[in-house]
Amino acid sequence: MTSDAGVHSYSAVLMGSPILLKLFEDNPTLASQVFRLIKQQENLFTVNRAASEVMAINHAAGRHPVVVSAPVFELISVAHAVSILPDSAFNFTIGPVVKRWKIGFQGREVPPAAEIEALLRLTDPHQVVLDAEQHSVFLPLPGMEIDLGAIAKGYIADVVQAFLRQQGVAQALINLGGNVQTLGSPPHQPQGWGIGLKKPFGRDDELLGTLQVQGKSVVTSGIYERYFERDGRCWHHIFDPHTGYPLDNELLSVTVIADRSLDGDIYTTLLYGMGPEQGLAYLAGQPDIDAVFVTRDRQIICSPARHFRFSQLDFSWQLRH
Ligand code: FAD
Ligand code: MG
Repeated sequence: MTSDAGVHSYSAVLMGSPILLKLFEDNPTLASQVFRLIKQQENLFTVNRAASEVMAINHAAGRHPVVVSAPVFELISVAHAVSILPDSAFNFTIGPVVKRWKIGFQGREVPPAAEIEALLRLTDPHQVVLDAEQHSVFLPLPGMEIDLGAIAKGYIADVVQAFLRQQGVAQALINLGGNVQTLGSPPHQPQGWGIGLKKPFGRDDELLGTLQVQGKSVVTSGIYERYFERDGRCWHHIFDPHTGYPLDNELLSVTVIADRSLDGDIYTTLLYGMGPEQGLAYLAGQPDIDAVFVTRDRQIICSPARHFRFSQLDFSWQLRH
C-alpha cells in the first residue's frame, strides 16, 4: 500500500496483469476483499489454467454441452452476440489461434501458415450452441476453444465497481492492466480522474496525454503490451479472426471511454478492426461511446469528446479531433 495526498493505493498481480486499486481511505480490508473478488472471477473465466467454468466447456468440445453459472453464461452470450455481428473483428472462439501463437507466454512463435489455416476452421462463432434455459454451452467441433481474454477484464472491472458502490464507496479507481473503471471524482478535483494515455512502446511513465473522466471506464488495447519481434515485424496479441494473424493496420492503440468497462473492452477490439476512419464514422451513431486512436504515423485522433477531456503532453505527436 502507498499513500499520497489522501490517495491510498493497493496493488496485486492477478490474471497475469498488474492490478491497482485507489481508495481515499486507509482500508486494507476492503482492498483484500476486492482482490479476493477478482480472484474468484478469474477462477470462473480463465483459460490459462486447466480448470475453470470456461475450460470445462473447452474440454468438452466435440463431445457434450456444459452447464455453467449464470454470470458465465451471460458473458459468453454477450461475447457470442458481438462475434457474430457483420464484419466483426471480435471472435470469442479465437482460442485455438491464441493458444498456438502463445503471444505473451513461453514458447511464442510464428506458426506455419498451413497450421493457422487449419486452426481457423475451429473458430466459427456461429457454430457455438447456447441454451438459455439450461445455461449450457456446446462447442460442436473437437479442438474448439472459447477465449474471453478480450472481454473478461472489462466485465470484472464492472463487478468491482458494483461491489465498491454497494460498500458505500463514492470515489475509487480500479485498473486491471489496461481496463480502468472509476467511481465519482477524486476529492477537490471536480474535473475528474486523470487517466494517462501511454506512449506506445515508450517507458511506463511516458504519456502522450491524459484523459479526464468522471465515473467512466477507460479501456486501452494496444499492440505494444504483448508482442514479440521476428523477421522485422511486430507480432502482437490482437488477432484478425479472418486471417489468424495479428491485425495489421495503421493503429498502435485504441482507447475507449464508456460507462461500462465491458463495453470499453468490446469496442476496443471492434474499433481496432475498423481502423480510425471507419471507427470514427461508426462512433457518430454511438453517443455513449468515445474513443482515442493512436496511429503509426504519430497521430492522436479523438472522437468528438463528449465524455472526456484530453490534455496533450507529448507535442511531437499530432492531435486531431
Ligand atoms: P484486449 O485487446 O482486450 O484482448 C486481447 C486478448 O483477447 C488476446 O490476448 C486474446 O486472448 C484475445 N483475442 C485476440 N484477438 C481476439 C479477437 N479478434 N477477438 C476476441 N478476442 C481476441 N495472462 C497471463 O499472462 N497469465 C495468466 O494467468 C492470465 N490469466 C488471465 C485470466 C483471465 C480471467 C483473463 C481475463 C486474462 C488473463 N490473462 C493472463 C491475460 C490474457 O491472457 C490477455 O493478455 C488479456 O486478457 C488481454 O487483455 P488486454 O486488455 O490487454 O487486450
Ligand atoms: Mg478488449
